[in-house]
Amino acid sequence: MKRCLDVPVFKLFSEFAEAEGIRIYVIGGFVRDCLLGNPGKDIDIVVEGSGIDFARKLGAKLGHIKVNYFKNFGTAMFKYEGIEFEFVGARKESYSRNSRKPVVENGSLKDDQDRRDFTINAMAFSLNKSDFGELIDPFNGLKALDDRIIRTPLDPDKTFSDDPLRMLRAIRFATRLDFDIDEDCYKSIYKNRERLKIISSERISDELNKIILTKKPSRGFKMLESTGLLQIFFPEFQNLKGVDSVDGKKHKDNFYHTLEVLDNLSVKTDDLWLRWAAILHDIGKPATKKFDPQIGWTFHGHDFVGSKMVYRIFKGLKLPLNEKMKFVQKMVLLHLRPIALVEDFVSDSAIRRMMFEAGDDIDNLMLLCEADITSKNDLKVEKYLNNFRHVREKIKEIEEKDSIRNFQPPVRGEEIIKEFNIPPGPIVGEIKDAIKEAILEGEIPNERDAAWELMLKLGKEKGL
Ligand code: ATP
Ligand code: MG
Repeated sequence: MKRCLDVPVFKLFSEFAEAEGIRIYVIGGFVRDCLLGNPGKDIDIVVEGSGIDFARKLGAKLGHIKVNYFKNFGTAMFKYEGIEFEFVGARKESYSRNSRKPVVENGSLKDDQDRRDFTINAMAFSLNKSDFGELIDPFNGLKALDDRIIRTPLDPDKTFSDDPLRMLRAIRFATRLDFDIDEDCYKSIYKNRERLKIISSERISDELNKIILTKKPSRGFKMLESTGLLQIFFPEFQNLKGVDSVDGKKHKDNFYHTLEVLDNLSVKTDDLWLRWAAILHDIGKPATKKFDPQIGWTFHGHDFVGSKMVYRIFKGLKLPLNEKMKFVQKMVLLHLRPIALVEDFVSDSAIRRMMFEAGDDIDNLMLLCEADITSKNDLKVEKYLNNFRHVREKIKEIEEKDSIRNFQPPVRGEEIIKEFNIPPGPIVGEIKDAIKEAILEGEIPNERDAAWELMLKLGKEKGL
């Protein structure tokens, strides 16, 4: 515990507070993470008084420091020696039923701890001279850390109903720290789930993304599902859950399959959007599900239908509708392509086509597809992974030979127009396409001379 307060500036803050006659405390995430053995670089400080005034004066004393003020929140921040400090006045909050905006008054440290979300987040270290370094832990957060439990300081119904975002925060912390949620809390989340509707989509997605970025996001999603929250803000994902059976033939549960893919992928990448691609790769399955007595269950076109669903889902969750979304759409659309290539003989042209469509995202697509192998049969998994290794080798080989990845037409439209002395028109596109096709099919190399020769030949055939 001592080590937590080794940050040299704490002594400095302490002396300054003493001189000002104000009491200050380190609180929240830093205290929690430090007690867990990994102190962070974000430190929240509660001031019994005005956080803004204190930060202003302290900043002036430290000199050459830019203090940022957030008047609406009553907070001030500055960076010092590589650490982000946030100062806030201790406050007391009371909530009305229809908003998560509380009425705020100045309060004591204890009032401030009462309004915190979880017992592990309500602990504070004193930075005051009289009891410097003492842990102030009114709700026994230390024991909750020991027991690895998320629990609220007050009655969970009140905590969650006051600010329903805390339901997602509970799941986020449980997932990130690999803690359990206390049983009463869990029940209370289920009971208060509808309250989530007063929370804006931006804040929900913010928490969701933090869950997605944990080491094992499936745990978070399972909790979101079983508390009923998922159904409220992301029903498309909830829809993947369940298994139908006809004539004793079942399909796999696509909810759990997707979570396995997400976990597999999360071992390989921290890329939020690639993880989103895993979440959405089979999202078109419920809409395309059919039972065929001959073949069993099919999901024809779920890649295409799924990619078409991405926009609406991103829009609903207020996720960015920019190139990140386009990347996810593309991954969903192409996610079956590499799998189609591993079955038996792989032709160069099939690989070239996939590289052409995936462009620079080919490596990400391969990661997604490898993660998508979730068979219980180890031999099968091994076989597929081996085949994917083969596909990767081929990709490398072809890339060295042809550089298809960022395909640029080796003959430009203007050149065709000039050479044949024709006006711009569909025929120019036809020739360009035929050249591209010939390259992808491996009939000619991706080189200017070969392309030029083919252009002349095509022109002749067309009587130009
Ligand atoms: P992280 O490492 O994710 O930043 P953190 O605990 O610092 O973890 P923040 O969201 O930065 O989390 O919040 C800082 C502290 O503020 C929390 O530890 C908690 O005490 C308090 N807090 C934040 N949001 C809420 C909330 N919605 N309700 C109650 N207390 C909250
Ligand atoms: Mg924080």
